[in-house]
Amino acid sequence: MTRVAHEDLVKKQFQELQTKHQYLQLHDTGKGYTISGHLTFRSEYAGIEIQDGFSIFIEIPARYPDAIPTVKEMAGRIPNNFHKFDNDVLCLGTPTDQWIKFNQSKTLLGFIENLVVPHLFSFCFKEKTGRMPFGERSHGGLGILEFYCEYFELKDFEAARKLLKLLATGSYRREKTCPCGSGRRLRSCHGKKFLEAMKSQEVSTFKGEYKQALSLGTKKPRN
Ligand SMILES: [Zn+2]
Ligand SMILES: [Zn+2]
Repeated sequence: MTRVAHEDLVKKQFQELQTKHQYLQLHDTGKGYTISGHLTFRSEYAGIEIQDGFSIFIEIPARYPDAIPTVKEMAGRIPNNFHKFDNDVLCLGTPTDQWIKFNQSKTLLGFIENLVVPHLFSFCFKEKTGRMPFGERSHGGLGILEFYCEYFELKDFEAARKLLKLLATGSYRREKTCPCGSGRRLRSCHGKKFLEAMKSQEVSTFKGEYKQALSLGTKKPRN
């Protein structure tokens, strides 16, 4: 995507975002676009309704929408030990997890509604009830394997890691024996989910995830 096309897309998508979130502003920093302001939401889960608002700062990468924006919470309400990286960027999930959610619309509004609001809601929900509404993952390689176990509905990390290894090669061979260990062909086993993941993003992301997942021993997922 050219620079002009990127700018047009960001401006157009921001207009749509503002129809629902009027307290957010778009800034052209000369190096790229950022969004700041107050994000309000009202969501409900398990009969618990939460209405709240957070002061946020979003950085839109130059490669957007081929790269996902990052978000920070600016008023210090979210503590460092709640899914936050050292640079204060909020942890919205593992890379593939984020891509699958972002791809649902590939817009700024979708990014806010499918990734940012659920994250802020989870924080409020935990503050209120002491538990996470949608489950919780570890960070780093362990979290990545937890994600793939969930995504492929597998019980052991080694099988998830083998599927991830195949994703990192960027090739789908339907007649290949599925790496999960079932003995079936990929196409009639985990093929559908495999293809869905493969289409969600660039191969380099899987390579990075696989590298992180390699450093862990063979363990079973929690639960
Ligand atoms: Zn996290
Ligand atoms: Zn399989």
